[in-house]
Amino acid sequence: AAEPESPYRVVLLGASGVGKTAFTSIFAGAADSMDSDDCELCGDEVCEKVIEVDGEPATITLLDTWDAETDSEWAQELHMQTGDAYLLLYSVTDRASFLRASELRITLRRFRPAQHTPIILVGNKCDLVRRREVSVSEGRACAAVFDCKFIETSAAMQHNVWEAFHGIVRQLRLRRDSK
Ligand code: GDP
Repeated sequence: AAEPESPYRVVLLGASGVGKTAFTSIFAGAADSMDSDDCELCGDEVCEKVIEVDGEPATITLLDTWDAETDSEWAQELHMQTGDAYLLLYSVTDRASFLRASELRITLRRFRPAQHTPIILVGNKCDLVRRREVSVSEGRACAAVFDCKFIETSAAMQHNVWEAFHGIVRQLRLRRDSK
């Protein structure tokens, strides 16, 4: 059997209220977990666990430490450098959060210029159909411009959240295997 890989640090980024805490809760409380005893190392903002992706275990350290409102620029820049991969969240019901995601993508690129850091643009709250302000095609176009993957999710419905985590692991493995 394959040895478990060393932990991948996955950082959640995005404006406040887009669903980062909801993502962390799903990750932490997962029925998807390989061991029944959930997180080995879980706080409010950091959670490490092993999940199975394509039949192979992967250890993810999920960091939900981003605080767009109160963090200093220095702290924010540190976040841009600590991740192996990033889930860049916005809410499809909040256009400002979509614009914020674009800004964050640009900042990320500044800190991660040469490396092909896996990033997935995540349009969350797709269950709130009537409050939608950002269309699927806008999200997809934005991801294409920024050269990253795209997925729409609903943390409330637990829709596509695991697909986002699995997607990030697949990208990390592709990068690992191409080295
Ligand atoms: P954070 O500030 O990015 O951590 O956002 P939270 O995870 O705290 O979410 C903000 C609010 O949006 C909370 O009331 C959540 O219950 C709600 N929320 C998060 N994800 C979804 C979703 O997919 N659909 C709906 N309808 N509400 C959501």
